[in-house]
Amino acid sequence: MGRNYRITVIKGDGIGPEIIDEAIKVLDAVSSVKGFELTYIDALMGGIAYDVTGEPLPRETIEKAKSSDAVLFGAIGGEQWDTLPRQLRPETGLLNLRKELGVYANLRPVKVFDELVEASTLKEDVIRGVDLLVVRELIGGLYFGEPKGKEGNRAFNTMVYSESEIRRVAHVAFQTAMKRNKKVCSVDKANVLDVSQLWREVVTDVAKEYPEVSLSHMYVDNAAMQLIRDPKQFDVILTGNIFGDILSDEASMLSGSIGLLPSASIGDKFGLYEPIHGSAPDIAGQGIANPIATIASASMMLKYALGEVEASECIDWAIREALKDGYRTKDISQYGAKEICSTSEFGSIIANYVGKCRK
Ligand code: NAD
Repeated sequence: MGRNYRITVIKGDGIGPEIIDEAIKVLDAVSSVKGFELTYIDALMGGIAYDVTGEPLPRETIEKAKSSDAVLFGAIGGEQWDTLPRQLRPETGLLNLRKELGVYANLRPVKVFDELVEASTLKEDVIRGVDLLVVRELIGGLYFGEPKGKEGNRAFNTMVYSESEIRRVAHVAFQTAMKRNKKVCSVDKANVLDVSQLWREVVTDVAKEYPEVSLSHMYVDNAAMQLIRDPKQFDVILTGNIFGDILSDEASMLSGSIGLLPSASIGDKFGLYEPIHGSAPDIAGQGIANPIATIASASMMLKYALGEVEASECIDWAIREALKDGYRTKDISQYGAKEICSTSEFGSIIANYVGKCRK
């Protein structure tokens, strides 16, 4: 029996459909080179789901996602849905999907392409060669803790983590570090917060199962500074939900363009793969969106969800080759462009390189 995988595809709103179409083009190219089959199942989420079904995350989408090998997602949101009550807004659909799938670890690699070092606001010697991964706890901590609310002129949220929540995300960080440079830096605020003290104890305990990985701890305020001062010191950064939210956005800007960065959200059973950017309504429908972040998310899907590591490496190689040869979408056109391409042309170029991959 050949390898056949079922992928739920959620295109979403704005540029979502444009960038997902290019990721599928590239996936089709790589699956034919590497001899496996992909079956795509379309599903609705976000504003478009609200327009069609009256809710941002229809039950059918959850069922499709849970019965497939992975979920590939574009982006959701747009002004026309911003005035809806919170439970009907596109973003609520995405938060609920993450919760439904139990994807507790968010992985955001930040790799600076040599060809695009100038795109960063930081100096070239600080930025050249950066290759780090932020592992953020995604479905616990301050954003989900109880009690929360508003009483008169007071409002409050609770930062809470249980040992098991910390342990499972720590394992993801150490396992990924084993496949990288074997360094984990755990980021917390243990000098002030009780919850961070527990975080530090549990991470230290999990580290004993990975003797090859070196573990360090850093306070979050220092980590925010070190990311700008000397980002090359980091391999894997492990942190909780709110610290990870802020640090991963900071880290993403090292690369200079939001259109370049992929992410994976994984749990024990399911995985959701998506670019870090939003639906970019300002450029939707113009054929100028950069599809790299989504194509690279598809590559992460091949590696983490399907175990198709060679296929994933081929995509990463093809993206680098296309950049090396001077192909650029409009957002990065001022950095070494020989040819400026539309979204669709750029997808075809990467698919074409994939066909030449010898990995
Ligand atoms: P955004 O990430 O959509 O866009 C920010 C800026 O980056 C815009 O100028 C946009 O044109 C540009 N940009 C983003 N992706 C690009 C790409 N692939 N190529 C070239 N340029 C790109 O953030 P925003 O404008 O704050 O939000 C727009 C909508 O997206 C809102 O409704 C927001 O709620 C939603 N959003 C969704 C997600 C998600 O789906 N995961 C994440 C963030 C924001």
